[in-house]
Amino acid sequence: MKISAVRGVKDILPEEVWKWQFIESASRRIMENFGFSEIRIPVFEYTELFARSIGQGTDIVEKEMYTFQDSKGESLSLRPEGTAGVVRACIDHHRLQPDSVSKLYYTGPMFRHERPQKGRYRQFYQIGAEVFGTDNPWVDAEILSMLHLLFEQLGISGTVLQINSLGCTECRPVYRKALQKFLRNEQASLCTDCRRRTAGNPLRVLDCKRPDCKEATQSAPSVLASLCRDCMAHFEMVKGTLDLMGVPYEVNERLVRGLDYYTRTTFEILTDQLGSQNAVAAGGRYDGLVEQLGGRPTPAIGFALGMERLAALLPEETNHSRAKPLYLAPLGDAAMERMPLLLHQLRARGIPVDTDYLGKSLKSQMRQADRIGAAYVGILGEDELNDGVILLRNMETKAQTKVPLEGFVDQIAETLAGEGA
Ligand SMILES: [Zn+2]
Ligand SMILES: [Zn+2]
Repeated sequence: MKISAVRGVKDILPEEVWKWQFIESASRRIMENFGFSEIRIPVFEYTELFARSIGQGTDIVEKEMYTFQDSKGESLSLRPEGTAGVVRACIDHHRLQPDSVSKLYYTGPMFRHERPQKGRYRQFYQIGAEVFGTDNPWVDAEILSMLHLLFEQLGISGTVLQINSLGCTECRPVYRKALQKFLRNEQASLCTDCRRRTAGNPLRVLDCKRPDCKEATQSAPSVLASLCRDCMAHFEMVKGTLDLMGVPYEVNERLVRGLDYYTRTTFEILTDQLGSQNAVAAGGRYDGLVEQLGGRPTPAIGFALGMERLAALLPEETNHSRAKPLYLAPLGDAAMERMPLLLHQLRARGIPVDTDYLGKSLKSQMRQADRIGAAYVGILGEDELNDGVILLRNMETKAQTKVPLEGFVDQIAETLAGEGA
């Protein structure tokens, strides 16, 4: 019986893998330029870590995690996001010292049991970054400028950066109360989820996608109106720094994010090119999380990029997958016998080369060479073998030259080097 992939997961096939590699390498380059170092964290953690960080009342913890018991009865979960694990690792390894700033990034698969739909998978990939040890608003703006540069380098246009501030432990409760008061008067127009959220997680109501709920919360109080003096000054500094750097943004006072741990600056990068799944990157400040997970009080900010969505937005002409400069076309058994050593010598010189292993005709080998984008094809048939040469065909100009079999490796290395290949 045929076994298919699990529902909601996706294979990344060779034809599209260049997008992933391109996004990963561009992100790495930019993040390292900004002083970030990579951290690799486990794919699973104690369930408790996510329950305590993401929050008990959230959809992720309530119904989307892949949770299982190991043979000792420990409850473990596949990571639904990266921040909790990075924070846990930093606390574990005593990396969050006072008066020091750490900048870390990660990449890898995350897991959420959501209803699969276009662009949303149960195993999905993220690139994320976190800065620990400072609440300087300059850093918030720096992270956003880093994302701005990344999108520019990926050639992705038409995105909008939206920012908001969710306040701190001082002013957030004030807003929460005001919002709850407003929502209690709107219960009749809210969906059942939002009626439930009114008590436990009222900010999430602003995030509800149902038209009725959107309509009902049209005139809800703005979080920005409740900010304390410090939070207001912080938000002004973030905006001022973005203005200074020329990073465009919009303020969206309804932007709340799904996770409990966010404070102050919150942001999303949106696109209208992917239908309803419109956030390609999101993040914000989470000044209380480290302490909440047992570390010393450490302000922090971070973001995550959705790789699937970025890949879908990547312009096709950015295809930088390396063309193979050389293809060897052996014709007949005697020529095939010469292949292993010749290929080995070419590859030992660092020359990318491929060949036919199936004894195909010249015509179909030329087609294959075309498919892989070979710049040159070396044809070795019976005549060439007798003359001790390889017929080297330039696939662009169609010019053919005879190159002595002896010394072929040197000559082709020189030719390719001359073309900067
Ligand atoms: Zn505040
Ligand atoms: Zn709702």
